[in-house]
Amino acid sequence: MTELLYLQDAYLRENEAVVLEVTEKAIVVDRTCFFPEGGGQPGDPGTINDVKIKDVKLENGVALHIYEGARPAFAPGDRVVCRIDWDARFARMQAHGAEHIVSGLAYSRFGCANVGFHMDPDGLMAVDFDVFLSDEQLSSIEYEANACVWRDHAIIAKIYSNAEAANVFYRSKLEFLEDPRIVTIENVDSCACCAPHLSSTGQIGVIKILSSMRHRGGVRLTLAAGKGAYLDYALKHAIAASVGQALAVRPTETEAAVFALIDRNKELSYEKNAQLTRLLTYMKDETPLSDAHLVRFLPSLNVEELKTAVMIFREKTNGVCVVLSGDDEQGYYFAMSSVRYDVKTFSREVTSALNGSGGGRYDVVQGRLKADRETIERFFRDFEVTEK
Ligand SMILES: [Zn+2]
Repeated sequence: MTELLYLQDAYLRENEAVVLEVTEKAIVVDRTCFFPEGGGQPGDPGTINDVKIKDVKLENGVALHIYEGARPAFAPGDRVVCRIDWDARFARMQAHGAEHIVSGLAYSRFGCANVGFHMDPDGLMAVDFDVFLSDEQLSSIEYEANACVWRDHAIIAKIYSNAEAANVFYRSKLEFLEDPRIVTIENVDSCACCAPHLSSTGQIGVIKILSSMRHRGGVRLTLAAGKGAYLDYALKHAIAASVGQALAVRPTETEAAVFALIDRNKELSYEKNAQLTRLLTYMKDETPLSDAHLVRFLPSLNVEELKTAVMIFREKTNGVCVVLSGDDEQGYYFAMSSVRYDVKTFSREVTSALNGSGGGRYDVVQGRLKADRETIERFFRDFEVTEK
């Protein structure tokens, strides 16, 4: 069994210990301030002497300090110093405390049980509740959670005997066989938990729900707190400032400015399509009606525009109308139609002869041809339609 010192003092950053065993992957010592992975929270990073510890796992009461690099030259009985990466641990305690508060409020206000929890190494959390919560309900939980931070409640972890625990209400995700360790935040939460905790809620700083989605009949939240929430805020502020600068508006006005831009973009797109249709209609009117197939190469049209064009030009031929855009090197996008034939019936004959691919319906087929302009023109000059 490893003595887990963080259970008594969550602020312990280092401790002296005696090496008990060194394996291919892990160091075992008699006592440690490292938190081993558990309850969805990753194990603490840090060092033992100058050996880098990347993770810690608890197996049968023994903390396995997983090291990086070559096997360290420790022998059983050596005295060493265990030192955690305090910045990472503190950020994770901020996140963990936020999870207690949000889960406690979700339970007391809306009867939701926390049924899943995961924290990534940077303290960003996914929290699952078994009941769906609306955006409005989540906003009220978020506000109340931050108010709990502002009131700076004490966070108290205490081991209860089974007899004492029987008279105390607490949330629990684990079945404690004996003497549960109950973490209490006054008027907010009471929960059985074995992780290290801050001594008061004020140190959490800020709690922010970043997103929510329906999940297995309930809801999954992405949650950030403390340092994680600050980094998220700093990033999003920088993005808003940068977008604001590009649009010449304040960061708080970027939302309205972007929606105005999207609307204007749609208007321009409609205008462009209307002008293209006018231009193509003019070109069509200048084209004589013919029994020969009509093949037109037009610059810089996308597939949708080619489909529009072919439906305009097709009335000028009693054969097949094909409109293309591209170049000899990259090949040509095309749309094919006819007032007389079901073009779908011979589209494969055309695409296989011109090294292309495509698809569509009886009235219009579109796709891509990997042949040069001269080959395409020659093909349609000689093409005899047989509907299959
Ligand atoms: Zn906890």
